[in-house]
Amino acid sequence: MPKRNDLEQKALHYVVGTGYQGVLQSDLWRELGASSREGSRVSIKLEEKGLIRREKELQEGRWTYRLYPKRLPASIETIVDCPCLLCPDNARCDPTTALSPKSCPKLTDWILNLGKPPAPTADIPEGPSAPTPELNITEDESVDESLDT
Ligand code: SF4
Repeated sequence: MPKRNDLEQKALHYVVGTGYQGVLQSDLWRELGASSREGSRVSIKLEEKGLIRREKELQEGRWTYRLYPKRLPASIETIVDCPCLLCPDNARCDPTTALSPKSCPKLTDWILNLGKPPAPTADIPEGPSAPTPELNITEDESVDESLDT
């Protein structure tokens, strides 16, 4: 039987790997080769340490827990649109100078918009499916009258 700390490490690693989907407690212990009793103790310990979150879930008529990581490792996608990456002033930017991340409006805007959906763009569709402006053609009555004479 693995030591409890080893089991905690393995369990935490596995739960983190499941991301936002989480994992059923019973599936986790099956995967790690632990008993459900030992597994319950470890998951409670991880929750007490603030490393995972347990949510009650009904599975095939029985209550169990789904385990979610409280923190996920950062991915490259989270910084791919950071303005610093393509900033022409990057080499001169320094917190001890006037050109500083502490006072950069581009960086401040980017940070304040983290987690918000991207603003809709005013794309103008092109090609054959593009709507054509409607022509508002009305009959010119004055022309008709002049022709009736
Ligand atoms: S903090 Fe501002 S000026 Fe500095 S590298 Fe980033 S975007 Fe450029």
